[in-house]
Amino acid sequence: MKSLAFLVLTLGVYCYSKKIIYSVDKMSKNILMTEGLYLPAVSWLFIGILIVLLKKKLLPALSKTLHSKKRLESSTAGEANIPLSVNYHFTRKCNYECKFCFHQAKTSYHLPLEEAKRGIVMLVEAGMKKINFSGGEPFIVERGRYVGELVRFCKHDLGMESVTLVSNGSLIRESWFREYGSYLDIMAISCDSSEPETLKEIGRYAKRTEHLKQLQLIHDMCAKYEILFKINTVVCSANWHEDLSEMIETLDPVRWKVFQCLLIEGENCGDIDPAKKMRDATDQVVTDEQFQHFLNTHKHIQCLVPESNLAMRNSYLILDEYMRFLNNTNGRKEPTKSILDIGVEGAMKGSGFDHREFINRGGKYKWSKKSSEMEW
Ligand code: SF4
Repeated sequence: MKSLAFLVLTLGVYCYSKKIIYSVDKMSKNILMTEGLYLPAVSWLFIGILIVLLKKKLLPALSKTLHSKKRLESSTAGEANIPLSVNYHFTRKCNYECKFCFHQAKTSYHLPLEEAKRGIVMLVEAGMKKINFSGGEPFIVERGRYVGELVRFCKHDLGMESVTLVSNGSLIRESWFREYGSYLDIMAISCDSSEPETLKEIGRYAKRTEHLKQLQLIHDMCAKYEILFKINTVVCSANWHEDLSEMIETLDPVRWKVFQCLLIEGENCGDIDPAKKMRDATDQVVTDEQFQHFLNTHKHIQCLVPESNLAMRNSYLILDEYMRFLNNTNGRKEPTKSILDIGVEGAMKGSGFDHREFINRGGKYKWSKKSSEMEW
C-alpha cells in the first residue's frame, strides 16, 4: 500500500514537472531550460522506483544476510572454546614401528582407568560430543580391555554421540567385538598399501601378523557387529605412486582418510631419542605434488577424505597419555598442563586448537551409527 502511494506521488511529481516544462517551454522557448527541468523529473521517477525496490527487496535481503553472518560468527566464536571432538592418545606404546609415526613411544605410561574416566567426564561437561581413542596402539594395554572399558563408559554411561577408535588392527580379536562392539560407532584401521612388501618397508608390520589379512578380518567383524568401518592411510615416499583402488573398493569403508606424511619436531624428526628406538621420518616426506598425484590416482573413490599437512597442524584437539593437550602450532607437540590438574578450559587456552580449521577440514561429519545413512 505504501509503495503504491509512493508510486502515485512520484508520477504526480513527474507530470507536474512536465507541466512546468511545457509552460516554461512556451514562455521562454528556451530548450536548455526545458531539458534542465525535464531531466530531474525523469530522475525522480527512477529514484522513486529504486527506493521502492530497495525497501521491498534488497534491504530485507541484505539485512537477512548480515544477520545470519553475525549469528554464524557468534556461534563459531562460542563453539571455539568447546572441545567438541577430542583425540585421546592414551598410550604411546605400539607393536609396530612405522617410520613416519608421529606419536612414538617416548613413555610407556597410561593413566589408571578411573583417572582416565574422570578426565573424560570433565571433557563431556565442557561440551565434548565425540571421542576418538588412539595411540600408539590402543589394544596393547591390557589386551584391549582398557580401551574397551573406556568405550563402554563413554557410550553406555555417558551417552556420548560418537565413540571411535584408531588401531593398526593387529591385536584385535573377535572376543573384543562381542564384549564391546555395541558401544563403538567407528573402527578405523591404518593401512598404507595393498602390497605386503611396501607395508614391511614402511614398518607397518610385526612378526606373526599379516596386516592385510587382519584388515579384512576386522572389516568382516565390523559388518557383523554393526560398526562403521574406516581406513586411514599415510602417503609417504614408499607408497605415493601406488594404486590402492582395488583394495579400497573391495573393503568399501564409510570413510578413507588420506594423510600427507607430517614431520613433527621431537616426535619423528629433530630432537628424538634413538635410545628409545624413535625413528626419523625425514626421508618419508612427500612433496605436495606427490601427495596430489596419490589423490589424483584415487579421485574416483567417493569416500576419500584428503588431509594435507596444513590442515593437520592445528585442526585436532589431541590429548596425550597424561591428558595434556598437545599444541602443534610451532611444528612440535608442546604439552599444556593436564586437564586433571587445571581443568578443561584452562588447558584449552594453550592447546593452539583452531576451531575454524577444524570445521574447514570437515571435522564435524556424520560420526555416529545413528546419524549414518548406512543400511545394516
Ligand atoms: S601403528 Fe605405526 S603409526 Fe600407528 S602408533 Fe604404531 S608405529 Fe605409530
